[in-house]
Amino acid sequence: MSEILESYVAGTWTKGAGTGREVLDAVTGEPVTRVSSEGIDMGEVVRHAREVGGPALRALTFPERAAALKAAAGAVQERKDELYALSARAGATARDSGVDIDGGAGTAFVYSSLGRKGLPDGKVVVEDDFIQLGKEGVFGGRHVLTTPHGVALQINAFNFPVWGMMEKLAPALLAGVPTIVKPATPTAYIAVAAARIMLETGALPEGSLQVVAGSIPGLLDQLGGQDHIGFTGSADTAATLRGHEAVTRRSAHFNAEADSLNASVLGPDAAPGEPEFDLFVKGLVTEMTTKAGQKCTAIRRALVPQDRMDDVAQAVEAKLAGIGVGAPGADGVRMGALVGTEQRDDVRAAAARIAAAGTVVHGDLEKVEVIGADADRGAFMSPYLVRVDDADRGEPHSVEAFGPVSTLMPYRDVDHAVDLLARGEGSLAGSVVSNDRDFVTGVVAGAAPYHGRILVLDRESAPESTGHGIPMPQLVHGGPGRAGGGQEEGGLRAVHAHLQRTAVQGSPAVLDSLG
Ligand code: NAP
Repeated sequence: MSEILESYVAGTWTKGAGTGREVLDAVTGEPVTRVSSEGIDMGEVVRHAREVGGPALRALTFPERAAALKAAAGAVQERKDELYALSARAGATARDSGVDIDGGAGTAFVYSSLGRKGLPDGKVVVEDDFIQLGKEGVFGGRHVLTTPHGVALQINAFNFPVWGMMEKLAPALLAGVPTIVKPATPTAYIAVAAARIMLETGALPEGSLQVVAGSIPGLLDQLGGQDHIGFTGSADTAATLRGHEAVTRRSAHFNAEADSLNASVLGPDAAPGEPEFDLFVKGLVTEMTTKAGQKCTAIRRALVPQDRMDDVAQAVEAKLAGIGVGAPGADGVRMGALVGTEQRDDVRAAAARIAAAGTVVHGDLEKVEVIGADADRGAFMSPYLVRVDDADRGEPHSVEAFGPVSTLMPYRDVDHAVDLLARGEGSLAGSVVSNDRDFVTGVVAGAAPYHGRILVLDRESAPESTGHGIPMPQLVHGGPGRAGGGQEEGGLRAVHAHLQRTAVQGSPAVLDSLG
C-alpha cells in the first residue's frame, strides 16, 4: 500500500491516520500516495499560525519578508527537477510543468521585487497625503494599512499545485500573514513537495507556512474577522464555503476564483493569411492542449465571423491533428494526461453535452491514440473541438468541460460578439484577436464588465505577448460572476488586500508621524 502523504503542521511533519484517499499516477494508473488528515487537530493548526507564525512575521519589515519570499522561491527554482518529476506523474508535460513550477517561482520573485521596491522599509503602509477635513487645516485624515492578527487559509484546485500555492502565499507573506495551505487531493503530493523545499530553506519563520494534505474538518470554525480565505476551485465548493458562518457571521475575508467559460474572438479583418488569423488559431490550440486543457483560463469558446467558420475549423483541425497525446517525456508527445480517470470521465460527459448542440470537428470521446502509455490505464483523451453553428444555443455558454475541449461558434457583428461573451456570465480571461481598432475598442468596452482580464492580440503585440491563458502577477487575476467574483494578484493590490485599511483622523503633525 502506498504511503500516507505528510502534512506540515504546528512545526512538525505529521501523517494523517487511517487508510486515506488513494491518489493514482495519471499516466500509469499506479498508486502514488494516500491522502489523509485524520487525527490532525485543526484548532492547533490555526493556533500555531496565529500564535507562532503571525508574531514572527509581524516582527519583520516588508523588505525582510520580501527577502524570505525570494529565498523560498529561489529554492523552488533550483530544485525544480524534483517537482517536474512529480508533476509528470499527474500527467503534465515539461511545458505544463513550466507553467506551474517556473510560473509559481516566477510569480513569487515578482512579488518579492514589488515588495522590496513598492512597500516601505517598515511594517505599516500609510496612504494619502493629509486630507483636510476642517476649515483651518488643523484636522484631517489619512489611511493606514496594517497586518491583521489572523491567518490566510488557501484552498487550491488540483491543476496548478505549485503556482496556485505561490501566487497566494506571496502576497500573504509580504503582508505578514501566516499561511495554511490546503492543496487539492489529486495533486497534493506536488504542493507538499514544493512546500517542503521552501521550508527546508529555513528562510520562512516557523508557523508562517503550514500545509494540510487532506480535508480540513472544523478548520473554518476557527476563522473570523482577522482571517482571509482564498479559494480556487469549482463554483459549487465556492458556494459552500461562502455560506460558512466564518464568512457570513464573522466576516472572514473570502476570495473565490472559480470556473469560467473564457472566450477568444477573431476580428472580421482577420482573413486567412493575415497574421491575426494565425495568432487566433495558434492561441486556441495552445489553450486547448496546454495542461490538457485543465486551465481555469483556457479558451472554451472560440467566436469567429460567420463567413470564417470553415476556414478556422480547417486550420484548427490541421493543427490538432499534429498534437501527439501520451506519456510526458515520450517522443512526439505534445499533450499529457488529465489528472485522473475520474476527471477524464467528467470531461467526456461535459463534452458530450456540448457536442449534442453541434458537430464534432476534431477528436473522439471514446478513443484516443496514446504514445508511450496504456490508453486504458492512463487518464488520456484527445483534444476535442465542437462546432455549434447556432451560437445562441445554451450549452457552450453554460457547460464547462475542464479539459482539452473547445467550441467554435459564429457571430454576426460586434454587438452579437459582445452578447455572446457576456453569456459566459463572468469570465477570467477573454481575447480579441484583430488588427481593426474600432472592432477591438467595441469589444473591449462591451465585454470588460464581464471579464477579469482581456488580451488584445495583434501583429504588433504578438512578439512579446504572454498569451491568453497566463495570468501575470502584475495584473489582476479573477473574474466577476461565474468566475467567482474575486480578484487575486494585481501587484501590490494583492498585498494591500491582506492588510486592514484604517482611516486615522487627527492633526497634520500626528498624521505626519505615521510614516
Ligand atoms: P473543487 O472540487 O471545488 O476543489 C477545490 C478545492 O476545494 C480542493 O482543494 C478541495 O479539496 C477543496 N474542497 C472541496 N470541498 C471542500 C470543503 N467542503 N471544505 C474545504 N475544502 C473543500 O475543484 P477542483 O475539482 O479541484 O478544481 C476544478 C475547478 O476549479 C474547475 O471548475 C476550474 O475551472 C476551477 N479552477 C479555477 C481556477 C481559477 O483561478 N479561477 C484555477 C483552477 C481551477 P479536495 O481535493 O481534498 O476535495
